[in-house]
Amino acid sequence: MPQRATKRGQERTPLDRDCDVLICGASFGGLAVARELASAGAEVLVVDRYEIGERQTSACGIPTDWLYALDLQDSLQQTFAQLVIHTPHATARFDLPWTFSTFDYRALCGLLADQGSFEFETATVNGRTGHTVHTDRGDIRSQLIVDALGWRRVLGSGEPIQPPDAFLSRGLEVHPLGSGQELEVWIDRSYVPAGYAWSFPAENEVRVGVGSFEPRFHVKEPTVRLASDLDRDAIRYQGNWIPHRIRRAAEDGVFFVGDSAGHCLPLTAEGIRTAFYFGLAAGRELKNVISERLTAQHAEGDAAQAVCGLGVRPLSGDRPPAVRRRGVAIARSRRGSGLARSRTPASPGPVEESAVWLGKFRQPSGPIR
Ligand SMILES: Cc1cc2nc3c(=O)[nH]c(=O)nc-3n(C[C@H](O)[C@H](O)[C@H](O)COP(=O)(O)OP(=O)(O)OC[C@H]3O[C@@H](n4cnc5c(N)ncnc54)[C@H](O)[C@@H]3O)c2cc1C
Repeated sequence: MPQRATKRGQERTPLDRDCDVLICGASFGGLAVARELASAGAEVLVVDRYEIGERQTSACGIPTDWLYALDLQDSLQQTFAQLVIHTPHATARFDLPWTFSTFDYRALCGLLADQGSFEFETATVNGRTGHTVHTDRGDIRSQLIVDALGWRRVLGSGEPIQPPDAFLSRGLEVHPLGSGQELEVWIDRSYVPAGYAWSFPAENEVRVGVGSFEPRFHVKEPTVRLASDLDRDAIRYQGNWIPHRIRRAAEDGVFFVGDSAGHCLPLTAEGIRTAFYFGLAAGRELKNVISERLTAQHAEGDAAQAVCGLGVRPLSGDRPPAVRRRGVAIARSRRGSGLARSRTPASPGPVEESAVWLGKFRQPSGPIR
């Protein structure tokens, strides 16, 4: 069982220590790494700015098989065999290739954490110098560091990732109390020109939201409008940026999993099953380093290759070269603030990237030990 030590106010004592593995971020990606390291015999420290499971980071929809494969089924809320798709012209009902379920975020994080063996501290990670991670409570030193901190990639060595000028989608949802029986999406330009809207029932609440692949498109008004169209209250907001491009999975001695590495299916904006998948993979690499079957440098190479193995080229930067509108690449003018036509090649869109990902990504075929 992990020891938890949420520090608040006066209890926020200085933190100055070493550990074998430091996992920054205690959500899907970070807790999957910790699960894999449970039997490694290493001193593992997990840090997050919030208590484990305190702040929900998604609509919590996932193929049901993943919950069973990781023994997380006790967090399951509702299961759907069909997806209802609304367009302005028609509504269609599709049988899903596998069922989807919604789950309770706090319960899932608790169950996943219980499968690990680590110490936990609440601390905000501010940055890194080499193998020293700086937090608001002090410095933590470790030879093996994982950044599972989400889209910001706080421990990366490149330029800070700055929306809306980065490869990011944006998503916002409300969580009105109520119930429903259908997993629904809307592909409707009146809500979002490039993206989709959704309604995911989860027992006693419904998660209603809008996601836009174009980061400059604001999703609050359409989210409120969709909730109103569905006779739901626009209350209990939850929103964030969602990476839609792969980033390097290892850089400058740090491993990245989940959103920090862009491990998110760009078309659907799903990043939970991918954070599990790559979190477990990174944990396996680290376990091999701890048992000295692999050097840290080799493990970094493997992590980087895991991305290449998916057929997606790793990126050096996180800035889209152009905004593409109606097939014409438009780049920001160097001289003025206006937009000017240019020959800058447009990057592959979420549809193309998803096709590559989905062609390689596999559902679990049984329990993952
Ligand atoms: C509105 C919305 C709905 C979504 N719905 C779904 C869905 O239904 N299904 C799906 O598969 N995906 C969904 N996603 C995407 C999914 O939420 C992410 O891809 C997923 O959460 C990534 O997991 P992660 O562990 O990498 O990062 P996160 O879940 O973002 O976790 C990052 C962790 O790091 C902590 N942290 C961040 N910064 C710091 C810091 N500086 N110091 C300390 N701690 C820090 C956070 O508190 C958090 O615990 C949705 C996204 C949005 C925005």
